[in-house]
Amino acid sequence: MRPEPGERPAASAPNQMPPEQTQAGTPWKQGWYAGARHRVSPNFGARPAGAVLDLVLLHSISLPPGVYGGDSVERLFTNTLDWDTHPYFQTIRGLEVSAHFLIRRDGDLLQFVSCDDRAWHAGQSSFQGRDNCNDYSIGIELEGLEGQNFEPAQYAALHALLTALLENYPLRFLAGHSDVAPGRKIDPGSGFEWHHLSDLALQWQLSLPQG
Ligand SMILES: [Zn+2]
Repeated sequence: MRPEPGERPAASAPNQMPPEQTQAGTPWKQGWYAGARHRVSPNFGARPAGAVLDLVLLHSISLPPGVYGGDSVERLFTNTLDWDTHPYFQTIRGLEVSAHFLIRRDGDLLQFVSCDDRAWHAGQSSFQGRDNCNDYSIGIELEGLEGQNFEPAQYAALHALLTALLENYPLRFLAGHSDVAPGRKIDPGSGFEWHHLSDLALQWQLSLPQG
């Protein structure tokens, strides 16, 4: 995907750091997941008061598009990407974006923003009549490209992550970026196979995109 321009920062952006350890018995502490490697992004803000976290948005991303295995995405999300190292980066120079999670091609899981906070992944968006999906969603990026397939290791990592999220948050809906920003976004793309998540949808009464 091509990330969208930076969004408004929240009025108060807590200076939050990931915990060194989680409490015994739960993989979560202050929105940070113990099963992920933590890379703290400055691109986040507070969720609106009373926001109900009921949506997971799936994305695909690679930088440059279609090139896998480098550290460009985590650099983008942590504002440490050197814009001069590739011509494509010139087209996104200055972008300040983030997602809560990134799943690499080998299933490696990174977390950039506490799920208790608002990451900047959806941009202008609407889901079932509600605008500003970033307010009430968790954003998961899969290293990939629209139209291409994803790796079995990514589906396995996504399945495990979603299970942990479902045990901790009142999630009701799974959707793709293309579902909440039609005409503007096409990720995660036709190569993403939603049926890999159908058992979770059944077990947790989650709604998946149609078709
Ligand atoms: Zn996206």
